[in-house]
Amino acid sequence: MNKIKIYNTLTGRKETIKPLKGKKINLFVCGPTIYDYSHLGHARTYIIFDVFVKYLRDCGFNVFYLQNITDLDDKIIARAKEKGVPAKDLAIAYEKEHLKDMKALGIKSVTKYARATNYIEEIISQIKRLKDRGYAYEIKDDGIYYDISKFKKYGKLSGRTVIQAEDSVSRIDYSKNKKNRGDFCLWKFLSTDGEPCWKSPFGLGRPGWHIEDTAITEKFFGPQYDIHGGGHDLIFPHHEAEISQMEAISGKSPMARYWMHIGFLTVNGQKMSKSLGNFITINDFLRRHPVNYLRFLIAKNLWHSQIDYSESIMIEIKTIIQKIEEFLRRLHPVKSARPGRAVSREAGQFNRAKNSKIIKQFKTDFYKELDDDFNTPKAFAVMFEFIKKTNRLLDDGLISKNEASEIYKIFEKINKIFEIINFKNITNQNKNSVPAEIKKLVQLRKKYREEQQWQKADEARQEIEKQGFLIEDTKEGSVVKRA
Ligand SMILES: [Zn+2]
Repeated sequence: MNKIKIYNTLTGRKETIKPLKGKKINLFVCGPTIYDYSHLGHARTYIIFDVFVKYLRDCGFNVFYLQNITDLDDKIIARAKEKGVPAKDLAIAYEKEHLKDMKALGIKSVTKYARATNYIEEIISQIKRLKDRGYAYEIKDDGIYYDISKFKKYGKLSGRTVIQAEDSVSRIDYSKNKKNRGDFCLWKFLSTDGEPCWKSPFGLGRPGWHIEDTAITEKFFGPQYDIHGGGHDLIFPHHEAEISQMEAISGKSPMARYWMHIGFLTVNGQKMSKSLGNFITINDFLRRHPVNYLRFLIAKNLWHSQIDYSESIMIEIKTIIQKIEEFLRRLHPVKSARPGRAVSREAGQFNRAKNSKIIKQFKTDFYKELDDDFNTPKAFAVMFEFIKKTNRLLDDGLISKNEASEIYKIFEKINKIFEIINFKNITNQNKNSVPAEIKKLVQLRKKYREEQQWQKADEARQEIEKQGFLIEDTKEGSVVKRA
């Protein structure tokens, strides 16, 4: 099995993934808060984990990919009020849209989507245990809060101290009676009629944001698991809060061994925001470009680096994808061709040995880059270098049928992970169209036949057949079709 290294936010180092149990990897990724349409930032996180999980599975790991869906949150309640609809209806409608978007993006790797409101019992159980262990306190007529000063390792992920948790930039649950300004809400008591609420031993109310994740992961994975992922903006306070909750409850550390945080996606160099009017939903994007363009834009950048989206970058993406497809379109007839005339034996053997080395090197180097921090930009650079070399060999007719077939299979395998090439397009176009070089040979054969140069005409026919086409002479003239 491959040794796969990834950059771990928790330790600040690249580390080899060693699962807690054999080949089993339990992975949890923070899902969306469903109060609006999902945008390109969400697309980036979920596409990266989609390709990464497919890669892990391809390498022989048995991955349980769990994702929560936050269907109870202050943002949902506020948006529902604005629109004058019940919060539950709003959440259901946007959850539907989100899952539709995920399907449109080709995301099929998630094992389980866990809707927060289905785990209220588990959430209550965690809050009870935090209270029993002295990590949580109640503020009358307000809610139950987590006391961050009680958790000695607070800040181990984000590098913040209890004092720094007061940082005004961070999203912190507001209450003037909290012990520390960084304390966060575990259970909010019902204050306004009509808001969603559940019964609990503490009183009617609803859970805080951070507690749903740990309740869900404990339910499926237990107190410790392998990888936790999410957007970069979730490191603080959300993920710090998760660690504080789960490790305080279980006394076991670390809650998750590897933390993967996906870089930001900006639009024309700016952060995406409603007020700037540069908020691009997945739906908007897919009306403008095919889905594989987005998958490639995201896949070709290092997962923890920043990506900038712009229309000019999409033109670049289109050109690169066309280059890959053009390459495969050239290979396709070679791999489907009938065995051709024998080249001189020594020359043939020389090319086979040389080509076999080039192909092997490509495979090794491509996967080596993926194993090293899932470095997709370097892996794709290896791919383009290989395409360049092989295109030259194709120009000289030095790629054999078997080699073409092997290369084609490698690309199909890579595409199962990334889904950036539409193979149907390549084969369909081949069925319907006759490449220019074949048309030229047909014309040449016609000329030889008219000049009664039968041997040359026959050689042209053989060449056409070698490229995977058949020629039939009818009363109306010669007809060429794919063999
Ligand atoms: Zn989360």
